[in-house]
Amino acid sequence: MTTPSLLARRNQALGTGAPLFYNTPLHIVRGDGVYLFDADGRRYVDMYNNVPCVGHANPYVVEAMARQQGTLNVHSRYLHEGIVEYAERLTKLHTPPLESVVFSCSGTEANEVALRMARIATGKQGIVCSNATYHGNSDAVGRLTATRRGQPEGIDVRSFPFPELYRPIEKNLGEADLTNAYLERLRDAIRSLENNGQGFAALIVCSIFANEGLPDVPRGFMPRAVEIVHAAGGLVIADEVQAGYCRTGKWWGYEVTQFVPDIVVTGKPMGNGLPLSATAASKSLVDGFRAATHYFNTFASSPLQAAVGMAVLDVIERERLRENAANVGAALKAALLERKDACAAIGDIRGQGLFVGVEMVKDRSTKAPDRERAVDVVNRLKDKGFLTSNAGAFNNVVKIRPPLVFTQSHAKDFLDAFDATLTEIDA
Ligand code: PMP
Repeated sequence: MTTPSLLARRNQALGTGAPLFYNTPLHIVRGDGVYLFDADGRRYVDMYNNVPCVGHANPYVVEAMARQQGTLNVHSRYLHEGIVEYAERLTKLHTPPLESVVFSCSGTEANEVALRMARIATGKQGIVCSNATYHGNSDAVGRLTATRRGQPEGIDVRSFPFPELYRPIEKNLGEADLTNAYLERLRDAIRSLENNGQGFAALIVCSIFANEGLPDVPRGFMPRAVEIVHAAGGLVIADEVQAGYCRTGKWWGYEVTQFVPDIVVTGKPMGNGLPLSATAASKSLVDGFRAATHYFNTFASSPLQAAVGMAVLDVIERERLRENAANVGAALKAALLERKDACAAIGDIRGQGLFVGVEMVKDRSTKAPDRERAVDVVNRLKDKGFLTSNAGAFNNVVKIRPPLVFTQSHAKDFLDAFDATLTEIDA
């Protein structure tokens, strides 16, 4: 099956426009650890996918999945010790009072649960999010998305400019004053909901503003945002779908931006590819949600989810993948920073742990975003056997986010390919 003929069949079967990466799409047939293999047997280093956090086709996880599926897989309206143990283990990874959890199957669903939980607890409807975020694809959660459709929509949604040092909302301010300027915009968004009768239920943010482009957040922004939200009677939802699970070298992104959320949403890496997500909160918030909704989700909270989720945690802990993400990520970022001055098209390099963004600009002084250049770099890296993508508010950030089993040796190979790409660009 050639790539063009498979593409034609796909367009017919799935409808034209189902998203695909790269100018020439990849036809991937197998994964193993950090590697993906195409139909011609060519090997690529996966530097993009955070879902297979313990590696593609991890044998320990696959074995746990097969064993549980061969023993029992049933919906959640029976007692099952595995799911209780998993919930207990998961919530212990947070600080109290995040002690209870609602399971679901996608980040979108878990964010839906979080929004409903906050609205039920506060009796208010209004949600504040950032102006360049993505939290999921459903009607309710999709309305928070500004990335493709302009500003977030709706009478019950308000956005504030995401906090960043690179293109600050006000120029020539010191960092403390800049933090205040962003906090004032957050206050404006809350006030607007209070004034239009919706009231304020919650602030929802990705703890490290990943979809916004992984900005360096002005110091003190998140802890003070939490104070403002609580003073207004609202709750703070941390979307850890990308930020969590050791991605940053810490267990949770909220440790990086230094705040304690009321509700935490996790997804992507939890099941290493098995659909599994969770909304964690205090027992009273979860009890309130359950009483009001009698939430049931056929595939969620199953023995299969529990067995796979447990196996993923086992591997992360046994292989010390949090430490690996911190160490390899720090070395990778430092090596990339060394290259920054050599290439005029690189405006900024940011990130923590195994999550690094390289921002491409047309001109360093104007910081005009260069999406085309980022796409070009991503495609050149792909041709050299390294898979990344472009993201961020302007889609001009080369996004580096490999599975957590990515090693120093993979990083070295990547840097060689990155150097070769920079040389090509300069030529
Ligand atoms: N939250 C964030 C921060 C995300 O990046 C995404 C997906 N990219 C989601 C939620 C939605 O997750 P899902 O696709 O599993 O519904």
